[in-house]
Amino acid sequence: MRKQIVILGGGTGGTITANRLRKRFTADEADIHVIDRDDRHVYQPGLLFVPFGLASVDEIVRPRSRQFHSGIRFHKGDVESVDLESDRVRLFGGGILPYDVLVVASGARLLPEETEGMLGPGWGERVFTFYDTDGADGLRQALERFDGGRLVVDIADMPIKCPVAPIEFVFLADWFLRERGIRERSEIVLATPLDGCFTKPIASKHLTYLLDEKQIELETEFSAGEVDGVGGVLTSYDGRTVDFDLLVTVPLHGGAAFVGRSEGLGDALDFVQTDPHTLQAAVKPNVFALGDATDLPSSKAGSVTHFEGELLDRNIERFLRGQELEHRFDGHANCFVETGFKKALLIDFNYDTEPVTGRFPTALGPMPLLRESRLNHLGKLLFQWIYWHALLPGRDLPLVGPEMPTAGKHLEQVALGGSR
Ligand SMILES: Cc1cc2nc3c(=O)[nH]c(=O)nc-3n(C[C@H](O)[C@H](O)[C@H](O)COP(=O)(O)OP(=O)(O)OC[C@H]3O[C@@H](n4cnc5c(N)ncnc54)[C@H](O)[C@@H]3O)c2cc1C
Repeated sequence: MRKQIVILGGGTGGTITANRLRKRFTADEADIHVIDRDDRHVYQPGLLFVPFGLASVDEIVRPRSRQFHSGIRFHKGDVESVDLESDRVRLFGGGILPYDVLVVASGARLLPEETEGMLGPGWGERVFTFYDTDGADGLRQALERFDGGRLVVDIADMPIKCPVAPIEFVFLADWFLRERGIRERSEIVLATPLDGCFTKPIASKHLTYLLDEKQIELETEFSAGEVDGVGGVLTSYDGRTVDFDLLVTVPLHGGAAFVGRSEGLGDALDFVQTDPHTLQAAVKPNVFALGDATDLPSSKAGSVTHFEGELLDRNIERFLRGQELEHRFDGHANCFVETGFKKALLIDFNYDTEPVTGRFPTALGPMPLLRESRLNHLGKLLFQWIYWHALLPGRDLPLVGPEMPTAGKHLEQVALGGSR
């Protein structure tokens, strides 16, 4: 009998998985359904560029339904919950979809309301986030009006999507304010709950060097507890304060609300408890998860989601054929870090190995790791084309996959640097 595969979320991970499964199974073997609440697919890495006028919202949004191969059924709807006992998805408004295999690809949810005062007076005037399209566009207008003062970028708490994005933001802010000739009368501060600017010590050391060079202040171990958008004061849980004229916040993140309403599926933050190597959910063998929706210790990044996607279709096929799952995902993450002035760094790491220096093999030639270069910046720009034309259609990318390549890397640094 034809199997029913239901995918919750049609963003990066849901689209890659649906398209790869459509190639793996014939129409007689499986129906593939994707549910998402809207028809707008946002290329989220592009949100970084919108506040600086380097991209517009129109350039980074495409119709979601057009990203699916033919034969995939797209349902516009809001998932209410999953009935894990009877293998059914409930939609708000009464729709029900039964499944043989469920894939949770519902990403992470922004929770600005969880920080006291964040959404109070000042929100959308001097307090913004660039993590969604409205916020990024509002911030573009605020930065155009900004005439010097204290620009504070704050990470409310971990985990967040793309942990390097706030660091990229301060680097670009430095470039932007210099271009406008107002850097001298501005201060830029990055406030983070971490004990350094990034989660991994070796990369953190390299990035801190750049922050110092660009005279960007770093406020560490700062977990935002309260925002006063009128007085321009950000207060941490331990009572420290940071004054701002413009606050750019990365709010708390949680998983999709339906995960919390589906008993046994998620953890306290509504992220799906997932096997780190097979992507099977802990709750039931016919449930899988990928991308930002999982509780995995890998970064919440599009690259991670893509590498997971290259394994997930194989494991779903193996599950349906009664075969053992492949334990191949090693937490591989890979990211260009924009540093301003048309340069970028490249970092590449996995569960066990933190980002190191050396060179990374790509189709454009070997790219320097943890070192600023023009080539890395071009790689970052080219990535948008690769996203729409190779990643989302579900193609394998040459030289990058679920297992991290080690050729050309200075891995001995890990022992010296004391990785986990
Ligand atoms: C500013 C910014 C910069 C970034 N830069 C990079 C970068 O440079 N490199 C990189 O690798 N990654 C980057 N990322 C991260 C990357 O975009 C995400 O990790 C990736 O999109 C995760 O894919 P996903 O499928 O898990 O989630 P998403 O792509 O977010 O998709 C989740 C989908 O689920 C849907 N959904 C949720 N709940 C429901 C519901 N109840 N009913 C119906 N549908 C629902 C949502 O509408 C959404 O479409 C960045 C992210 C941001 C915000």
